Amino acid sequence: MWTCPSCGEQHEDQFKECWKCFGKELQHAVTANSPPPLAPPRMLRSYGAILARMIVGALIGTLLGVAVFHRWGVSLADAFVAGAIAGGVIGLLVGIFFWVLFPYEPGFDAGPVPEDGDSPRQSPD
Ligand SMILES: [Zn+2]
Repeated sequence: MWTCPSCGEQHEDQFKECWKCFGKELQHAVTANSPPPLAPPRMLRSYGAILARMIVGALIGTLLGVAVFHRWGVSLADAFVAGAIAGGVIGLLVGIFFWVLFPYEPGFDAGPVPEDGDSPRQSPD
């Protein structure tokens, strides 16, 4: 039997530390500073914005596909089918590319966009 010098609690010899004081130490250690202020949440790109890029990618891919396949001697109808498939694949890749690599709206946390003076202004008369 031994007595804790800090709190006076009596313990069996098998215990090496005072459970009361150990708990106090833990509580003290858990006490944390106030959490840092949260960063402003960034805006995720809307699905519409990604879909628009996919459609643009698909259209460009289709046009390129038709041009390339037709240039290779494929008839225009077949070239259009192959081009549409290629365009679909390219559009899908473009969509995934933006979705994975650039999921956030650009410039949201970069502060206000500086005025560069190319917006039309009314001249004072
Ligand atoms: Zn103690």
